[in-house]
Amino acid sequence: MIIRTGTGSIRAWCAACSMDVEMLTPDDAVLVFPFSTRAIYSSVETEKIHFIETKSRSILVCVNSLSELSRNPDQHNYVARKG
Ligand SMILES: [Zn+2]
Repeated sequence: MIIRTGTGSIRAWCAACSMDVEMLTPDDAVLVFPFSTRAIYSSVETEKIHFIETKSRSILVCVNSLSELSRNPDQHNYVARKG
């Protein structure tokens, strides 16, 4: 189920997070996060960013995974080190 909120952001179930999260279109996500649209789509394909597909065949990306990736843009492929 997709719920549009008054602010334009959307809350929807993210299977990867197992919770309701804020979802953004890739176009909105580039305004909020330091990624290009291209980087977002490529991260979606490599499953670094969670996403859902809408009925209109566009996608919505999970804000949780976007924040995670923006915090660790380079270390994302590496196993976390001690400390
Ligand atoms: Zn998620």
